[in-house]
Amino acid sequence: MGAGIAGLSAATALAGRGSRVALYEATGHAGGRCRSYHDAVLGRTIDNGTHVLVGANRAAFRYLRRIGAEDRVMALGDGGVPFVDLARGERWRARLGGGAVPWWMLFPGRRIPGTGLGEHLRLSRLFAAAPDATVAACLGHGPLMDRLWRPLTEAALNTAPEEASARLLVPVVRGMLMGGADAARVHVARDGLGPAFIEPALALLAQHGVAARLGARLRQLDVTHGRVTGLVFDDARIAIAVGDAVVLAVPAGVAANLVPGLTVPLAHRPIVNVHIALDGSPTNPEPLVGVLGGTAHWFHRRGALLLATVSAAVALAEQSAEAIAAAIWRDAARALGLDGPLPRHRVVKERLATFAQTPTEVARRPAARTTSRNLILAGDWTATGLPATIDSAALSGETAAALAHAIVSERH
Ligand SMILES: Cc1cc2nc3c(=O)[nH]c(=O)nc-3n(C[C@H](O)[C@H](O)[C@H](O)COP(=O)(O)OP(=O)(O)OC[C@H]3O[C@@H](n4cnc5c(N)ncnc54)[C@H](O)[C@@H]3O)c2cc1C
Repeated sequence: MGAGIAGLSAATALAGRGSRVALYEATGHAGGRCRSYHDAVLGRTIDNGTHVLVGANRAAFRYLRRIGAEDRVMALGDGGVPFVDLARGERWRARLGGGAVPWWMLFPGRRIPGTGLGEHLRLSRLFAAAPDATVAACLGHGPLMDRLWRPLTEAALNTAPEEASARLLVPVVRGMLMGGADAARVHVARDGLGPAFIEPALALLAQHGVAARLGARLRQLDVTHGRVTGLVFDDARIAIAVGDAVVLAVPAGVAANLVPGLTVPLAHRPIVNVHIALDGSPTNPEPLVGVLGGTAHWFHRRGALLLATVSAAVALAEQSAEAIAAAIWRDAARALGLDGPLPRHRVVKERLATFAQTPTEVARRPAARTTSRNLILAGDWTATGLPATIDSAALSGETAAALAHAIVSERH
């Protein structure tokens, strides 16, 4: 149930193991929070927001390999990611990662400018963080917070470090900063999210004889004696036979309405994206630039389209689209050297981009297994141990597929 990344991950993993799969999606398209669509103002297909992977996102890359789409993402920033601090007028390249022990922190030349060794050593507090500790409480304030931990926390956890769960940043730091050189490398979809993450999955499912049933909104789960026995849609009820399993890969709030007594994260944080058409601009900015001290967090250029991303955009999302676009264009002028009037653009506010990854909400993530023995949960919001990202969604789908396969196998 649900054709976002989690549902597609589960469905493709199950189909690959030879299970008979049916995929139901409420809306008229697959992809959920990770999708491409045609935008009339820009006259082209855009994504609902820039999505980046890093090399350390193992489940996401397994998913891409499974659907045969590894070549649909590309690595950026071979020589590190360029950063601009608009408030201080400084520029540098961040080169992170490179080994299980982050020796690079010891060398001033490898550290981010203006940061000291003492700040880096606070990292040990993150690894010993209590469940209710926040990132800022562990890592403190100072240049390293401003230049590394805040951008990393907001990008990975979509939550400000003052309220973000310290424990949830640990897999990010371990994966990216202490992995090999490739672990920290940023990857983006070459031609958009649909062609990279969604269409190849649907094509693979079609090869297995599975067609996603779009416009099929699950309204109710019938449960009898601790087992799901039926799925109720607007115009049909589908009986669930003994030995069949149901993977519920819908957003947290939808799952909570369908499964009485289920505890899920409730609060969410928005992400704001601004797409700007650079057609005819003589300036060709770098593909990815991190921005500090302005409104934008990241600028990503894909061909003639410039995409600005602002994560944990709680206050910004309340502003008008025009005010947001004007502020972003001012940043683009200073950070990237673009000038002239604001070109054609589209502001996309995703208010429920991810759940708020605070200690309180993280503690509400449920396990994949439920009290109904053939009902399994999937989604970036389930207890994967990872921040709510494509990686988490893909991993949750794999876990759900393994559990569902075990249920189905018991029958035979
Ligand atoms: C703007 C933005 C930027 C992001 N940037 C990044 C990034 O840079 N890197 C990264 O890794 N992640 C990023 N993410 C997060 C990533 O998109 C999500 O983690 C991932 O897409 C979640 O997938 P999911 O399958 O768990 O959930 P969803 O995508 O929410 O999928 C749930 C599906 O269930 C369907 N559904 C709902 N109700 C029903 C029902 N009753 N019956 C049937 N179907 C139903 C929905 O329509 C949807 O298709 C970003 C998200 C946003 C919004």
